[in-house]
Amino acid sequence: MNALVVGAGPSGAQIARLLAKQGYDVELFEEHVQVGRPIACTGIVTRALFEFLPKDESYIVNELRAVRIFSPSGKTLEIPMHEYVICREKFDTWMVRRAQDAGVKLHLRHKFVEAKDNKAKFKNGERSIEKEFDILIGADGPFSAVARSAGLLEGRQYYIGSQATVKGEFEPNVFLTFFGKCAPGFFAWAVPEGKNLSRVGVASKKHVHVFFDMLREQFGGEIIERQAGPIPIYDGARSVQKGNIYLVGDAAGVVKNTTGGGIITGIWSANILAMALEKGKNYSKLLRPLRKELWLHKKIRETLDKFSDDDYERLVRYMSSERVKRILAYYPREYPSRFLWRLFIAEPRFVTFARRLW
Ligand SMILES: Cc1cc2nc3c(=O)[nH]c(=O)nc-3n(C[C@H](O)[C@H](O)[C@H](O)COP(=O)(O)OP(=O)(O)OC[C@H]3O[C@@H](n4cnc5c(N)ncnc54)[C@H](O)[C@@H]3O)c2cc1C
Repeated sequence: MNALVVGAGPSGAQIARLLAKQGYDVELFEEHVQVGRPIACTGIVTRALFEFLPKDESYIVNELRAVRIFSPSGKTLEIPMHEYVICREKFDTWMVRRAQDAGVKLHLRHKFVEAKDNKAKFKNGERSIEKEFDILIGADGPFSAVARSAGLLEGRQYYIGSQATVKGEFEPNVFLTFFGKCAPGFFAWAVPEGKNLSRVGVASKKHVHVFFDMLREQFGGEIIERQAGPIPIYDGARSVQKGNIYLVGDAAGVVKNTTGGGIITGIWSANILAMALEKGKNYSKLLRPLRKELWLHKKIRETLDKFSDDDYERLVRYMSSERVKRILAYYPREYPSRFLWRLFIAEPRFVTFARRLW
């Protein structure tokens, strides 16, 4: 059996490696000349990453020990936690190397164009190449050409993230988040790489450059790299398979609507697809545990979308109890089902926000 995987990001590298280990003949196609570039990612991950992959110092840039949340009026709340900032170029390269070690054949500068009758068409410069497949996997990111070719992309919506790495003086282990009018419908962030560099950005459904310029004024400093990219909005149980064509990661839209984080959930979806193919089970059904968590993120996001600045002030106040902070510090964001009910017990006033859902 052969499998063609399109997209050498974390989700593609993971599914390619797992299928090669199962004995598939796997080829991995990447449209760029290099793995991991260009980057459009802040690279913040919780320790849940290491439930899926071995921890390797080679891709970790910084360790974070607290998040400082700024309310719209500038009040602050600091929550201790232990998270990681990774270098996407190094991380993606590390993941693809592991896939190659498992027998995956990598093709750079191969852009997937379309699939028809179990044949996938790629462009390699001026050359057109056709490859037959038993299985085709789209791990080709938010605007997945594989999803489009299979008719699985319609109706998708996106946030647009805009970010710069800036020089300055930063607390090296504290990451900052800003809520309210500075980033309507999402939030702005500053994630330090160390004490002299920070990844400063904002995401929004529209006018993101206006909000980025506002943030930029606040932070100043020389920009050493600029990045922007789409973040899919998870919108429920959409199709992730058509016959022998499957989607994982951003291509499948499996991203947390609260934070826009999709590295871990993408790798999780790849693990689930590998299990479905190994055991001959239904991929969509096996995705349920992941979808349950993403559904909770969607509900939290829908609640936050209706927040006024006053609501954010109240939220920050309620979150400042020691019990709430301990819960938020302990449970990785990937699994809201494990901590949401605990938060409601620790701070019953959170229930008043749930009314925003109706
Ligand atoms: C500004 C910003 C900040 C973010 N910050 C975070 C964060 O801090 N933490 C987090 O967890 N997530 C973050 N994300 C989201 C995260 O980047 C994605 O969820 C993650 O990269 C998804 O991995 P993937 O492998 O599914 O897709 P991708 O990483 O997008 O990889 C897809 C690959 O497919 C290739 N490709 C695309 N089209 C084709 C084609 N036609 N043919 C061949 N190859 C193709 C691309 O070049 C790419 O290499 C952020 C996103 C943005 C935009």
